Amino acid sequence: MLAYTYVDKGHFELRHKDVPSLQDDGDAIVKVTLGSICTSDLHIMHGSVPRAVPGITVGHEMVGIVTQTGPDVHKVKPGDRVAVNVETFCGKCFFCRHGYVNNCTDPNGGWALGCRIDGGQAEYVRVPYADQGLSVIPDGVSDEQALFTGDILATGYWAARISEIKEDDTVLIIGAGPTGICSLLCTMLRHPGKIIVCEKDRARADFVRTHYPSVLVTGPENCREFTMTNSAHGGADVVMEVAGSDETFRLAWECARPNAIVTIVAMYDRPQILPLPDMYGKNLIFKTGGVDGCDCDEILRLISQGLLDTTPLITHRFPLNQIDTAYRIFENREDGVIKIAVTPPEKRSQE
Ligand SMILES: [Zn+2]
Ligand SMILES: [Zn+2]
Repeated sequence: MLAYTYVDKGHFELRHKDVPSLQDDGDAIVKVTLGSICTSDLHIMHGSVPRAVPGITVGHEMVGIVTQTGPDVHKVKPGDRVAVNVETFCGKCFFCRHGYVNNCTDPNGGWALGCRIDGGQAEYVRVPYADQGLSVIPDGVSDEQALFTGDILATGYWAARISEIKEDDTVLIIGAGPTGICSLLCTMLRHPGKIIVCEKDRARADFVRTHYPSVLVTGPENCREFTMTNSAHGGADVVMEVAGSDETFRLAWECARPNAIVTIVAMYDRPQILPLPDMYGKNLIFKTGGVDGCDCDEILRLISQGLLDTTPLITHRFPLNQIDTAYRIFENREDGVIKIAVTPPEKRSQE
């Protein structure tokens, strides 16, 4: 089968590999029917994910059809359409039992797929702890509708959940990339008083204006004043930082009102500074990523009820054999790209 492979820093390559087989009793094999490319894949390519293992197949956003299950798998069976969770978790350890599945203490726990073990930019993927890592896609929900369930939607849902949003709150979301928009959609489910999105890229700001007209949109240069004007207590009640730059990290706590919750969803390329003297007395509560992806069944239920729709994010589609082109477009943000759906390879080879 074809598998997009992390060769070394700066270098991914489409290679031929064997179709994966069951290794543990809790494994399932999934035939990938639709995948996607995530900014975290670019982080691996750029060498900023030290735990990424050279030689692995990348990709951790996908849906597919179960083809095989181990004897300990009870939630799914061959033939089921499933969304795959970015995270691998045992479901039994202290952290899993408390819903902190990102910190699962299993040696394979956490973000393993497409980072430390073979992922889903391939024709098939092995999913460990399949009872935890797979969610059955309800009838009537398409692959494109379900595609982001296990990663960026799980992240947006988790971010909105831990941000403790209340009815009259002003919520500021910094960054309207794919994860920012998923955070926005999941914030909208909680009906706060006002939602402000801060985005410097004009096309992305316009995307938010067009698709979500009730949302206020500002750029980073005006974000502070704009947030002060549009909030009741001198800043946002909740801030979600989903952009991941030095400037946006600073903006996040500057735009927060005293005693606000500042949720850091973004992944940074380098350490950030918390200037405690400057923020003394603000009594902020910081919550930090990565995602506890344990709400995927609930997310699929919301999609099937028409309450969550991420299909407008899919701006481009490429078959797996053209994934190099897809990466180039995604990395350089060409052609107004937001997310790319990767379809199975066009029938040329029979692997
Ligand atoms: Zn991702
Ligand atoms: Zn665990």
